[in-house]
Amino acid sequence: MLADAKPRFPPRSHLFAPCSFEIPISFEIPILKKPGQLFQNNMAEIQRSERACRDNERKFPSAPFVLELRRAPQIAIAQMPTLLAKNAEILVTMDGQRRELKNAGVYVEDGFIKQVGPNEELPAKADTVLDLSGQIVLPGFVNAHHHLNQTLTRNLVAAQNNNLFPWLQAQYRIWARTTEEASRVSTLIGLAELALSGCTTVFDHTYLFKNGNNVDCQIQAAKDLGVRFHASRGSMSLGQSQGGLPPDDCVEDEAFILKDSERVIQTYHDASPGSMTQVVLAPCSPFSVTTSLLRDSAALARQYKVRLHTHLCETRDEERYTLERYQLRPVDWMETHGWLGDDVWFAHAIHVDDDEIRKFAQTGCGAAHCPCSNMRLGSGIAPIKKYMAAGVKVGLGVDGSASNDASNILLEARQAMLLARLQIGLLPPDGPRKYFLLSQSHPVRANEWMTAREALELATLGGASVLGRSDIGSLEPGKCADFFSLDLHTIGYAGALHDPVAATLFCAPQSAKFTVINGKVVVRDGEVVTMEMKPVIETHNRCASEMANALEI
Ligand SMILES: [Zn+2]
Repeated sequence: MLADAKPRFPPRSHLFAPCSFEIPISFEIPILKKPGQLFQNNMAEIQRSERACRDNERKFPSAPFVLELRRAPQIAIAQMPTLLAKNAEILVTMDGQRRELKNAGVYVEDGFIKQVGPNEELPAKADTVLDLSGQIVLPGFVNAHHHLNQTLTRNLVAAQNNNLFPWLQAQYRIWARTTEEASRVSTLIGLAELALSGCTTVFDHTYLFKNGNNVDCQIQAAKDLGVRFHASRGSMSLGQSQGGLPPDDCVEDEAFILKDSERVIQTYHDASPGSMTQVVLAPCSPFSVTTSLLRDSAALARQYKVRLHTHLCETRDEERYTLERYQLRPVDWMETHGWLGDDVWFAHAIHVDDDEIRKFAQTGCGAAHCPCSNMRLGSGIAPIKKYMAAGVKVGLGVDGSASNDASNILLEARQAMLLARLQIGLLPPDGPRKYFLLSQSHPVRANEWMTAREALELATLGGASVLGRSDIGSLEPGKCADFFSLDLHTIGYAGALHDPVAATLFCAPQSAKFTVINGKVVVRDGEVVTMEMKPVIETHNRCASEMANALEI
């Protein structure tokens, strides 16, 4: 940054040029970023960080565009990076017609899809070319609920065989020891595992900010890895002495929570198409936050037009808690505080009745279905097929890695499909009593079956809808270039290629061959290529051990 450099603005027409343009400047290049719109440059040395842009915003508050000034070579060519992914054996678009194309590919400019179609119709060249022969390409999956920091306490012995409340109580104080270093590496581990399973957009719900943990380091980790990230400034404010579940030393002061929430939104939230970073306000749960924090968080979120999220209707224990404390069921309690709306989605949403499902549909509330966690903790089975029939937005979440204990979104989609099927065996069909003895395969019950394509839709378009994004979830011109591929010619898929699309869920989850996010290759040949992961794993294991050992777990 040249502190004394005088900012200069090229003509606006340059900023919106559809293809390359030259900037013949002798010693400085103004890199322009209209709020929310990033102009990529193909020179690695002038790649900028969001943080530097924020500095510029403060420095040049009246500038029509954000400036970042850096030393540069004598002449720079600024052009949109392109990527061509071709020769896919099959490509699942998830577009309006749900087209599945054979021998097809995607052409990408500047992080956005320019063309989707048969190989012969795509441009012949690009800066990066991926040959996806023998592979299936799917839109990048969206993870709608996670706690990345919990990779530090996977498979904790004291929390292996209990349901939610005792499981939480076994871990709160360990999580409270999360340092900034531990937070960064656990975020990287979780995001990398997700990217390796085809996930390209991740919502994370961190709510325990003690001992140096902060949202900033998580956002930076996601940028470094290259994953599209929706961070939460989560919170807990209701300690045990006030009737909450978490210990008092694990909750924060409400005034500080709100102040820091505002800071995080102002610093990082980008609502523009193609955004790589968004912020969500996410008080943790009915049994760990006060009513005033719920109300104030909703007001703040709406002031800044960011989304709201919390856990709801996860267990019968929670239902008992709100009935005893507030004389209301969880959904009614949330409604009294302005928490039903199309800017809200709830994690789990298992224990709901038909009226509450209708209420979600009418108000536009979404749900993040987390089948692995729900089975692991014995929480119950969310009525996903009923939600879908009612028009409720549903996405998938792997939930915290301490209750999964994986961050594998392809596995989660498979479990969503399987768990919905188990539910058919546990419950009689809706309707007259004469239906009760109907076979599960009776035509009257056909709609109760979740198909592989429905589960794939939850993982893509469904997740995008609960996060409020119309620019991800499908492969269409104008959408973000987020997709992944799976090698169909492996042992795991052998014999299942009558229907390769369904094979991705009926067969055991395989690792992504390629994962592309924002037009950039993050996973290549089954390996994360944006970062050396081995040292991250080492540091992660050291941090996990230090945290657990400190409490003699
Ligand atoms: Zn959760």
